[in-house]
Amino acid sequence: MGEKMTDKTRQLILFAMKFTKRSKLLAKILGTLYHKYMKHKQYSSEKEISEEFYSRVKKIDFSKFVDISQKPDLNVIIITVDCLRYRNMSFAGNERETTPFVDSMKNIFKAVSTAPWTYPSVSSILTGMYPHNHGAILEGEIKNFDKLQNFKSIRKSVLTLPEILYGLGYSIYFESAIPVATYPFRGRSPFKITYKEHAENVLENLEQWIIKQKNSFFAYVQLGDLHTPLEPPKKFVHYFGKVNYDYHLKNWDFFTPDKWNTEKFHKYREDKLRLYDGTLRYVDTAIERFYSFLENKGLLDSTILIITSDHGEEFWEHKDMDAKYFYNPRGYYGVAHGHNVFNELIEVPIIFDGIITKKGKYTDNYVSSVDIMPTILDLLEINHNLTFDGMNIFNAVKMKKRPILSEAVAYGYEKKALIIDRYKLLYAPDDRVKWLFDLKKDPEEQHPIKDEEITDIFIEKLQKILKKDETRKISDIVRSIQNLNKPL
Ligand SMILES: [Zn+2]
Repeated sequence: MGEKMTDKTRQLILFAMKFTKRSKLLAKILGTLYHKYMKHKQYSSEKEISEEFYSRVKKIDFSKFVDISQKPDLNVIIITVDCLRYRNMSFAGNERETTPFVDSMKNIFKAVSTAPWTYPSVSSILTGMYPHNHGAILEGEIKNFDKLQNFKSIRKSVLTLPEILYGLGYSIYFESAIPVATYPFRGRSPFKITYKEHAENVLENLEQWIIKQKNSFFAYVQLGDLHTPLEPPKKFVHYFGKVNYDYHLKNWDFFTPDKWNTEKFHKYREDKLRLYDGTLRYVDTAIERFYSFLENKGLLDSTILIITSDHGEEFWEHKDMDAKYFYNPRGYYGVAHGHNVFNELIEVPIIFDGIITKKGKYTDNYVSSVDIMPTILDLLEINHNLTFDGMNIFNAVKMKKRPILSEAVAYGYEKKALIIDRYKLLYAPDDRVKWLFDLKKDPEEQHPIKDEEITDIFIEKLQKILKKDETRKISDIVRSIQNLNKPL
């Protein structure tokens, strides 16, 4: 009952917020109210959250999963830049110099996020599994992010990276500027939320914590600067040219078909991308600053540093297809994220730096966010019997025909993408969409191949993968129950 009431409060505030688009002051008051409420619900007590985690991990016999006699001594830091779309980085072809520092880092991979929004995607980064395997997805046939009770948890038998590393003696740190990134980790990691703090502040908090560490440590931070509302430090607002910087530009506008044939829309779109790129340039400088901190403290030689993103962002690339073919309870189209699995929404970078001696730009074949966790365990030389959907990223990138998935949307009917080599299936049977794209000939995904036979082969392949995983999941659960001395 309590849960229902609090969820209603949240929905009421969200509902009221929808009618305040034109009043800045009212929007600000409601915004503050909303975040106070979320604060109360999600992180009223950091201590409580930590206790939930430590009481669970105490019950896990880690020796059943990893060789705990090993004592890896490298630190691990993952920085996830929320909403960072791959194609807007300068090395990936953006004419604006958005990411000069990140571009210079050691190993850059072109990856696919396992989902087009935060909740299932971050769960994949920290479990090495696809959403249909780790379980942190939205319940219901028609997905709608608005209802908190629809958020399913990570399956109890799946271990998270913070849990494993805690079991190996690591100190754990987790901070997010985007609350949704922490939702799957109640009881599965200690965490704190610093809502929409600038990247520099979030990374400075991490620096303060690192200075105090005597053990090997694992730190996960999620930066929220590129997530709406876009409010970078002043210097970066007009960094790539003057924009009409107001409430509408910070948030989303022009998201219904009736607004797309106007002069105003084109100007708005240009300004929006300019503001996004300026914000990205800011994030790049913040990461550079943090990198210098690691360097000055002599930590680069004892740390595996990973920079990635949980999903991309759409700037009207598929607005017409989105409005015409896909049901969306949100009522707006072609913008933001969570609603579909086109490439602008799921292409992300994965960067490995720090102690790693290898160097390279690996952009021919896709890798996946599920590769991050198994790669970390490999680099730490940990022997384990854990099951992952991912694999060592340095091997994965050599595989041309490896099937890669993205799924578990936040709005509307379920949509799945299956990428194999140059082909990509977009499968949304409830929207009657079964499209196969040739990414080499049609990288913008505008013209599905009109060949039902080949399309059906991809659908069959997708169904086979899902069926095989279902069988594996059951045997995993049985094994984990048999392996446990005490119940989780
Ligand atoms: Zn996100």
